[in-house]
Amino acid sequence: MGWKIIVNASKLNKEGINSSILSGAEKLRRGESALDAVEAAIRSMEDNPNFEAGTGCDVNIGGSILMDASIMDGCTLRSGAIGAVQGVKNPITLARWILENTNYSLIVGRGAEELAKALSKKTTSIIVDYDARTPEKIMKYNKALKLLKSLGYLKPESNARRNAAKAIAELLASNRLENLKEALKASELGTVSACALDEKGNYASGASTGGWTLTIPGRIGDSPLIGCGAFADNPAGCASTAGIRGEENARLGGLTRMICDRMRIGESAVDAVTYITHYVENRLNLKLMRGTLIAIDKHGEIGCNTKHESINIAAAYMTHDCSKPNIIVG
Ligand code: ASP
Repeated sequence: MGWKIIVNASKLNKEGINSSILSGAEKLRRGESALDAVEAAIRSMEDNPNFEAGTGCDVNIGGSILMDASIMDGCTLRSGAIGAVQGVKNPITLARWILENTNYSLIVGRGAEELAKALSKKTTSIIVDYDARTPEKIMKYNKALKLLKSLGYLKPESNARRNAAKAIAELLASNRLENLKEALKASELGTVSACALDEKGNYASGASTGGWTLTIPGRIGDSPLIGCGAFADNPAGCASTAGIRGEENARLGGLTRMICDRMRIGESAVDAVTYITHYVENRLNLKLMRGTLIAIDKHGEIGCNTKHESINIAAAYMTHDCSKPNIIVG
């Protein structure tokens, strides 16, 4: 069985997806591991401001960006993840460092930032003191705040950047939180994720995100939660996800773990992602408009749910015998 790689991102950008897949594929072509491929593919999307992971993430209510990421090795079942981290250019690389060099699986907030600072002095792959906010995302943030003021969620004099706690209190006091997402139509979810199988038969998967515009600082989504954002286990395969509200994924106890459980007992990747897509929709009574699940099963077959009700999503794959990435959705 040769190598395979599959990448998704909830922002349609074929060029970005192509470069991401090619960076992962290059690793596999050189005989490097599935973990190397997943890290490279996700790094490439984190460095591309058209995806909402790393550079270009959405800005939270306090005006900053806090990022989550995870990566898992299907051979050893070891994983590394970071949550609510600011100023680190490539969260996926910090997560990989945790996987390979510690006995921890998830480090969040200041601790993770301090770890990154220490590592940045030893390796060039970890860059800190990095501002991931792009002018577009700052504009989107300002527009969203203006909208909330015009709709009465926030007081006209409210200054969320200076006093996030006060702005959060005003939002909570508005008693209309149910309508908040509707009001903020512009705030799309924007995670990226990747799965890979290498020549040695090892699987890996990972995910990276910045949440979405105006989240409460400290909120952590599904991307860094193992079994939610990503899961890999050689006897089963691997799976990862993007575009699903993290809270919905967590309510069901982890969709990528569920997909792998089905593949472990012989279901194909396509059937497993299709089953879980229907399960989510029926059980939570919602439509996975952009929610994308990708997987590689134990026979090396690729699965991706494709019936999205949004064009703002992309997924693609590449195998050792392809000369270029194949777009599945997008
Ligand atoms: N799942 C992500 C989160 O909840 C958002 C996304 O997928 O776009 O943080």
